[in-house]
Amino acid sequence: MLAIIVNGGAGSSKALTPEEQEIARKGVKKAAEAGYLVLGKGGKAIDAVVEAVRVMEDEPIFNAGTGSALTINGEVEMDASLMTMDGHFGAVGAIKDVKNPILVARKVMEETDHLLLVGEGAIKFARHMGFVKHNPITKRQQEKLAKLKEKGESHYFPKLKKYLKYGTVGAVAFDKNQTVAVANSSGGIRGKLPGRVGDSAILGAGTFASLFGAVTATGHGEWIMKLLLSKITVDLMKTYNAQTAIELALKEAKKYGCLCGIIGIDVKGNIGFGKTTEYMAWAYLRDGALISF
Ligand code: ASP
Repeated sequence: MLAIIVNGGAGSSKALTPEEQEIARKGVKKAAEAGYLVLGKGGKAIDAVVEAVRVMEDEPIFNAGTGSALTINGEVEMDASLMTMDGHFGAVGAIKDVKNPILVARKVMEETDHLLLVGEGAIKFARHMGFVKHNPITKRQQEKLAKLKEKGESHYFPKLKKYLKYGTVGAVAFDKNQTVAVANSSGGIRGKLPGRVGDSAILGAGTFASLFGAVTATGHGEWIMKLLLSKITVDLMKTYNAQTAIELALKEAKKYGCLCGIIGIDVKGNIGFGKTTEYMAWAYLRDGALISF
């Protein structure tokens, strides 16, 4: 059995127009198919999730890579991470001017002794690894930031809540050797302060994998970090299948008003997903059958 599930972010359904939701639907399907193709060729789960996330980073509708949400200063600072079930982890935080943060995170995992590189250091590392300069700022995101600023409340992060637009991308896969892996990439939350690092770069928060399964979360990063949402979900997979584990974790998240979504696969290959938000873009492929939101 082969399986992959991807998400294109959770949030308010009003954040995307019906046309944009259609583009997001196509985008998650395309990413799931790209990842599944890797699995079908005998590729590893980690290769599949990286490919799926890379595809979504290159689709400007998603808040990751090109098309990322802007900081209050109008810049793009991206977070990304990935993890295998045998404990390999790599991440970048607040990285600028690269096309695919997930590929840089993979280099952190494979080429360094560290888990997380941030800011200037992450950019220097990326250049050293051969990643060329790329401007991920889109006009659409500039307009969205301008609107946010017009409405005021732009400096006080918690007050931005009602304008939140999530769109982090994530993928979890299960390969022919029955190993699972996860990857996650995000532009963070619009209007964030420069230097803010969200859950997408943090082990156990936006990304976690262990012998029981692999999970990625999207949504309000500060809460996802406080709850270590991906870690508690994967821990629940010790006892429950992926869907039940995710539902239990979301029940906990709801207690705190945490706006989020979770996708995951347990070590038996069961897929799970859910959200506390109105909307989440997702798609999965299991044994050749494609299902999407
Ligand atoms: N979790 C991301 C963050 O807080 C945002 C998102 O999921 O879109 O940085």
